[in-house]
Amino acid sequence: MADAQLTVLGSAIRPGDTILRYPTATVAAVEPYRADLKVTRTFRMANGAWYAVDRTAEYKIVRPAPSRVLVIGPASTADELRDLSAYCWDAADQSGRTAVVATDTDHDVTAYAAVYAAPGWMDDWTALVLGTEAWGAGVPLVEQPTWDDVSRCTGCRLPLTVGTVDGAPNLCGPCAGTHCSWCGTDEDRALPYSSDEGATWDMFCRPCARQDRRETKRLRAVKVAKAA
Ligand SMILES: [Zn+2]
Ligand SMILES: [Zn+2]
Repeated sequence: MADAQLTVLGSAIRPGDTILRYPTATVAAVEPYRADLKVTRTFRMANGAWYAVDRTAEYKIVRPAPSRVLVIGPASTADELRDLSAYCWDAADQSGRTAVVATDTDHDVTAYAAVYAAPGWMDDWTALVLGTEAWGAGVPLVEQPTWDDVSRCTGCRLPLTVGTVDGAPNLCGPCAGTHCSWCGTDEDRALPYSSDEGATWDMFCRPCARQDRRETKRLRAVKVAKAA
């Protein structure tokens, strides 16, 4: 999917969008509705600027094609959550994209390239809501195939156990050309890496994963030293 030029209401603008009347930077964060500003939302841009945007007016924007995928499934117990995070690891590895575990319905499914549904997803309320939204919005909903139906990567023959997006080439992430989501390199084999205890799996090259682990350790040490 390519970047799209759209006309949307101010209330539908989200991080990552470029507002064509303020083209110098993309929207970095959307601040909560402020009652004192009545009909506006405020936006912080990537270059530090602020804009007030009318929620009811139309804006021309450029919205980048979604690159992340969402993973839905049972997540109400610690065991289920661990399994879902493992499924999310597979989804990241096999799609070559950042994969996010959905533990609540607070996700705009249209911000994702696909929604991967783990087994048993229809028995989970949150997953059912998000799966239905994906289906309604035309976002590919990818269910786990039965073992007999598992397709293999046409490059390396790796079984694509989490399923494949209809119409897309059957290539695993590495064969499709995985880039490190941090430094952008495609020289090293990027692997799913989580810096938030398995809630999100990013594709990181080894040097970036090592660097992040060192940084996390350092921050933890600083926190402990401060607390003492
Ligand atoms: Zn492959
Ligand atoms: Zn990297």
